[in-house]
Amino acid sequence: MGSVARLGSEEQRERWLPRMAAMEKIGAFALTEPTGGSDVAAGLRTTARREGDTWVLNGAKRWIGNATFADYVIVWAKDEGDGQVKGFVVDRGSPGFTATKIENKIALRTVQNADLTFENVLVPEENRLAGAASFKDTATILRQTRGGVAWQAVGCMIGAYERALAYSKEREQFGRPIASFQLVQDLLVRMLGNVTSSLGMVVRLAQLQDDDVYRDEHSALAKAFCTARMREAVGWGREIMAGNGIVLDYGMGRFVADSEAIYSYEGTREINTLIVGRAITGEGAFV
Ligand SMILES: Cc1cc2nc3c(=O)[nH]c(=O)nc-3n(C[C@H](O)[C@H](O)[C@H](O)COP(=O)(O)OP(=O)(O)OC[C@H]3O[C@@H](n4cnc5c(N)ncnc54)[C@H](O)[C@@H]3O)c2cc1C
Repeated sequence: MGSVARLGSEEQRERWLPRMAAMEKIGAFALTEPTGGSDVAAGLRTTARREGDTWVLNGAKRWIGNATFADYVIVWAKDEGDGQVKGFVVDRGSPGFTATKIENKIALRTVQNADLTFENVLVPEENRLAGAASFKDTATILRQTRGGVAWQAVGCMIGAYERALAYSKEREQFGRPIASFQLVQDLLVRMLGNVTSSLGMVVRLAQLQDDDVYRDEHSALAKAFCTARMREAVGWGREIMAGNGIVLDYGMGRFVADSEAIYSYEGTREINTLIVGRAITGEGAFV
């Protein structure tokens, strides 16, 4: 929805957004490719060739959430004409389009991710996002979604903190609740510190978003910082629950597993760090 809202024409927004907002239609965002993850900006291989008022798409995507059941898939492809990345809204049922669910994920198991292939998939010109002229436009969407993932990290670690705190009050060892031990309190306080500092950062990011003055490096910093704090915090929560921390039934194992995906998607910590590093030094260090 974000891609259509930000980069679609007025007519495209009216055509797609109301039914998506009502959850009558589901969307997916297809940027990552089997060979292009972190370097997808330069390494994108899916192509779009214009033939009259129709585009012909060829290529493959990986990890695309919702794509096994989504009605519309936003596909980012390189225009063979001018070499620029453009966005296309592809109907899932289009001939030549396949979506195969990625099995055996250990994290974010409620999200279905898919491998996609496009073999001469025909897309009408009216389905090309009017405001997407190059990867710079795609990046404006990533700026938004990275902020969202920073919030996910905060939610994940708050869940882990609350679970660990409750468990520490219930669980007894040496005849006392483990919450009464100084070393357990140390872990809980570290978790709370990570939650609080990250929450402060995402609230500030949201203020910058509201004022429409936030830049790529703001959401990249929040994504890298909050997900790193999350990964530490859920590790401490797991430590507090010891053996039961690795069992799904005790409510901590899912946070531990999910934190690994949240840490790496929407740009890994390294890539988001490089975005911030470039902004503060003026030197790109990606290659
Ligand atoms: C659960 C899940 C859901 C996802 N959903 C979607 C989706 O809906 N749509 C979509 O388009 N994508 C999606 N993705 C893809 C996600 O954005 C990518 O996984 C992510 O960008 C990393 O790419 P990669 O996995 O190919 O890792 P790679 O790019 O292969 O990276 C491997 C390692 O190399 C490091 N590295 C790479 N380049 C550099 C460098 N220059 N300097 C230092 N280190 C570097 C990385 O940081 C990482 O540690 C999803 C991924 C997951 C796991």
